[in-house]
Amino acid sequence: MSGASYNGYSWKQRELILKAYRRGEAGPDFTLEGKPCGLCGDPNRAPTEWHSEDYSQPFTFEPPQSYPLCKACHLRLHKRFKQPAEEWKLFCRHIDAGGYGSEFVPNYPLKRRRELCARIAAGESIEIEPIRPREDATGWWRELTLDPESLNAPWARPRPLRARPDEEAYRAALESAQPSEQEWAILHFHAEAFRRTTTMREIAREVLRSERPQTANLLYGRLAKRIGQALKWKPDPRSDGTPFWMSVIAEGWQPPSKNRHRRDYELVMAPIVRAVVLS
Ligand SMILES: [Zn+2]
Repeated sequence: MSGASYNGYSWKQRELILKAYRRGEAGPDFTLEGKPCGLCGDPNRAPTEWHSEDYSQPFTFEPPQSYPLCKACHLRLHKRFKQPAEEWKLFCRHIDAGGYGSEFVPNYPLKRRRELCARIAAGESIEIEPIRPREDATGWWRELTLDPESLNAPWARPRPLRARPDEEAYRAALESAQPSEQEWAILHFHAEAFRRTTTMREIAREVLRSERPQTANLLYGRLAKRIGQALKWKPDPRSDGTPFWMSVIAEGWQPPSKNRHRRDYELVMAPIVRAVVLS
């Protein structure tokens, strides 16, 4: 889907892996030719068709970051946000039954599709005839979100955009930063938040019992700076050029307004930080 963002990566970021692939960064022996579709298993797929779930560097061109796909599955995958959730569910059932992506529309013409989707939406169980046995079904596609916010949100990225120090380095940095009890409470609250995502307002309310997001900002920012300095982390620059020390802990983004309501800036904790905090 050229031009569009996906899994928290802008098109500009997504283009980089395509360029890297064309430059041959996948290696001299790497080929997608002859590989079956990584979703439906169809052996007849266009050799140039492939898909990435993960556009963070260093790039990898193999699962679980990238998959050879057939055109039908690739289209469905990207179209899943614009269609009723039941349509994607029905497609997944078809794949589970051993169907190929290209067989979905012929097997389920529009009228039948609508009928089955309505039954799925009503919570009815539907029978799907097995088509062929499935081999090597890891089922990675079943875990894919249908939340359109995942197109832009950093929580959707399998890996943060910037490569991170390893667990041991983070552990050592935390030790030298010596978080206070309150700072530990902030870290834990953030690590346990849904999608590793929180805001300074939530931290202020839930951890500091304060209505002032600035208080959380100050406290958490100071802790981030100590951790960042211990790691010799070069902080991301803010738009005004000042260092964003929080970048050592989290990726930030401004979510879109909801019902004309401006939402707070969100912080998505890096998975490795979460792992260290909760270990
Ligand atoms: Zn396929």
